[in-house]
Amino acid sequence: MPPVSVGGPRVLLRRLREIMAERISAQPRLDKLVSVIAANMVAEVCSVYLRRGGRELELFATEGLNRTAVHKTHLNLGEGLVGLVASTAVPLNLTNAPEHPNFAYRPETGEDPFRSFLGVPIVRGERVFGVLTVQNRTARQYDEEEEEALLTIAMVLAEVVAQGALVDLSELDEGGLSPTRPAVFRGDPLAEGIAIGTAYLHEPRVKIDSLIADDPVAELARLDKALGDLRQGVDAMLESTELDLSGETREVIEAYRLFAHDQGWSHRLRDAVRAGLTAEAAVERVQDETRARFSRTDDAYLRERLHDFDDLARRLQRHLGLGGTNENGGAIPANAVVFARAMGPADLLDYSRDKIVGLVVEEATATSHISIVARAMGIPLIGGTIGITDLTRLGDDVILDSQSCEIHLRPSAEIMRVFDAKRGLLAQREARFAAIRDEPAVTKDGIRIALNINAGLLIDLPHLAESGSDGIGLFRTELQFLIGTTMPRLADQISFYKAVYDSAEGKPITFRTLDLGGDKVPNYARRVREENPALGWRAIRIALDRPALLRYQVRALITAANGRPLKIMLPMVSEVSEFQAAKLLIDREVSRAAQRGSPVPAKLEIGAMVEVPSLLFELHQILTCADFLSVGSNDLLQFIFAADRSNPTVARRYDTLSPAVLNLIRRIALAGADVAPRRTISVCGEMAGRPLEAMALVGLGITSLSMQASMIAPVKMMIRSLDTRPLRGLLEQLCTINDRSTRSRLTEFAKHEGVVIEHPF
Ligand code: PEP
Ligand code: MG
Repeated sequence: MPPVSVGGPRVLLRRLREIMAERISAQPRLDKLVSVIAANMVAEVCSVYLRRGGRELELFATEGLNRTAVHKTHLNLGEGLVGLVASTAVPLNLTNAPEHPNFAYRPETGEDPFRSFLGVPIVRGERVFGVLTVQNRTARQYDEEEEEALLTIAMVLAEVVAQGALVDLSELDEGGLSPTRPAVFRGDPLAEGIAIGTAYLHEPRVKIDSLIADDPVAELARLDKALGDLRQGVDAMLESTELDLSGETREVIEAYRLFAHDQGWSHRLRDAVRAGLTAEAAVERVQDETRARFSRTDDAYLRERLHDFDDLARRLQRHLGLGGTNENGGAIPANAVVFARAMGPADLLDYSRDKIVGLVVEEATATSHISIVARAMGIPLIGGTIGITDLTRLGDDVILDSQSCEIHLRPSAEIMRVFDAKRGLLAQREARFAAIRDEPAVTKDGIRIALNINAGLLIDLPHLAESGSDGIGLFRTELQFLIGTTMPRLADQISFYKAVYDSAEGKPITFRTLDLGGDKVPNYARRVREENPALGWRAIRIALDRPALLRYQVRALITAANGRPLKIMLPMVSEVSEFQAAKLLIDREVSRAAQRGSPVPAKLEIGAMVEVPSLLFELHQILTCADFLSVGSNDLLQFIFAADRSNPTVARRYDTLSPAVLNLIRRIALAGADVAPRRTISVCGEMAGRPLEAMALVGLGITSLSMQASMIAPVKMMIRSLDTRPLRGLLEQLCTINDRSTRSRLTEFAKHEGVVIEHPF
């Protein structure tokens, strides 16, 4: 077979465009396509295999193999050469195909006389729709230009397939899903709530109007110019004096620059343009291949790098003038449910809060910063739903329910009715919660419980008043360090804490000093490899080893307080001496302020978190030197049970209401009453915000709880319907039992005594 003539692919692309425009039905169109491709490429065989029902590939059209095998020959993903191309998303170019270990002979196709084989994936986004092959009798090597031509044709085919012009999309996709039918996805609930709204795509695929270039020489010049501009922009970013780049941030940007200058990438782009595509289509095609390849690798580093290439491709499209038009067509609808493959917290903050009712981020996990911000903004979020974005179209109806962990795309009218009813019930419940907002949290037997919120970002602050809470029981200052791209300077910290003070309007705030390390490492910090990060160099350990960090933070807090009372809480205290050493550093900062004539806090309280078991054996000592204690049950229970809180296999293995935990809390509460009855002991881990757990805590003598703002009302409702007297007796008993019935018995108690245990969702 002679090499493809230089004009070959372009002539072919034009011919394909004509066939696409013909008014014929799907199958004859596909038949025509394969025969035209075969003729143009001087191949004896050209076939199209498309994916069906998830893992199967079906021969859909052929020129050169037995036509009777069409729709009869099926291969599994990974089976045969075609299956291999589909599963790896990488072209396969073989001189002698039958010798390949994956060769699977199908007699019905009459394939045996053909030795050479070139197969390319038909990809769009990161999904492989099928495989396009050419074959010849003689053992020959297809050259690079031919491979390039076939890839270009496959892209056109993918576009046609994606539009549903050839076959119903539901026949092509994994599990029979399609962008037109109702579909249900399950994911991880990362921020609670129900949303019913309209789909909006965050950074969707750009819409390319023209795939085939009229003048390839001019097109190549356009691409080169855009590549030049892109590189210049990236270089300028590195040299910018505005960005204070150092350490890891600099390394990341340097790696990014290397990719922007990557010769392999620009060669692939230029080859695609030479083959006849427009520059925009070439960027899209090369990016599709990169995605398809990278997303199949187990290498986390490479998968992470895919974001760099995605980002570069988007920038390149902008340099080509495509940035403004995307498949969203601009305006964000009211009640938008935003879909993204990946999304940073800053991206989310760019949206106006009143437009977004829900969020789906394929690659988000519970500890992703986007999850923290979504929770703070009260936007329901589901993550871990790889592939959903490709199946979602702008304007689709969406129901997102993080209680059932489900996302319904294009739900039927029946499903809509069910969720409307559920939402109605939730609204009634919310109204009941709102009604007690300004009522005190006092039990029926007259015990006042302080209900505080956990916060960490400015967007949390409005919740302080809205929830009817008493104050902020845990302000996670490290969140501010985690969302930024550079370390906050002293002045930034001062203005941030000042804003917190101002919006609290006199309500008490407990600032926890930086709880960094473990899984909370800022992007700009050097990541130290640790075998067990949760047991590693974290929180107060960093503060004592790098005292300047703590002192600067305390200096910022004292300045922001500007004479108002200041409460500082130290995280991860393992022994009393650590607390004392940190207290000394704090006291020094107060003296420094006093010496300089700056205002010092009207009242300074320094407390410790109880979240490392060793401190339980120094309870009396810590109670005499700390002004208050707060039980961080998230960490404390992970260490008590030796069960990693971020490992889903074990995180929920042990009940937070087990006898061990009840005994533990009882001991802490009793020690408090015994040694320092006026010192507050609160609980600020997740259990404090769950009504049944909160009931047990109150019954064991805890009078201060700090929780996610949305749980204040349900917990208050529980407290106002509780008489602790009969509960105390039950808890005494439950502390001594040796089975797993505590939860059911407490539930039974609540039911019997009319204690309201309700969740907002
Ligand atoms: C805890 O450990 O319970 C706690 C409140 O702190 P964090 O969840 O931030 O570790
Ligand atoms: Mg903790």
